[in-house]
This record gives sequence, structure tokens and C-alpha cells, in this order.
Amino acid sequence: MECKKEENKKACPCTYDCKLKGFCCECIKEHREKGELPACYFSKEVEKTYDRSVENFIKNDKKQ
Ligand code: SF4
Repeated sequence: MECKKEENKKACPCTYDCKLKGFCCECIKEHREKGELPACYFSKEVEKTYDRSVENFIKNDKKQ
């Protein structure tokens, strides 16, 4: 299976300037190791805060 990085980049909602953009397997690994979730789990507004914590996800998911 070939890497779909360029295709993934087009759908990635992350606004942070990051070398892992579109490299979803590494993105998930990076955030999971920190007890976080990737940008695509958050609403557009919450994503911009760059707070990727699980706590922030739970707090904001309840508001939707
Ligand atoms: S969610 Fe995190 S690892 Fe993924 S592209 Fe954005 S800043 Fe990089």
C-alpha cells in the first residue's frame, strides 16, 4: 500500500505548520504518545487553539 500523504494533506484540517501534515499514521502516533488527539478530532474553532488534549476534546465534544 502506498502512502497517501498528498491526498491526506488536502483533507487535513490542521492549521499548525507541521511536517507531519498528511502523514496520518505518524500524526496519530505523535499525539497518542502525548495523551492527545490529532487536529481532525476537533471543530474548526477548537483546532485553532492547538490544545490537542483528550480533556479538551471531551470538554468541547459535549458542547456540539
Ligand atoms: S495534528 Fe499535530 S502532528 Fe498532525 S499535522 Fe497537526 S500539528 Fe502535526
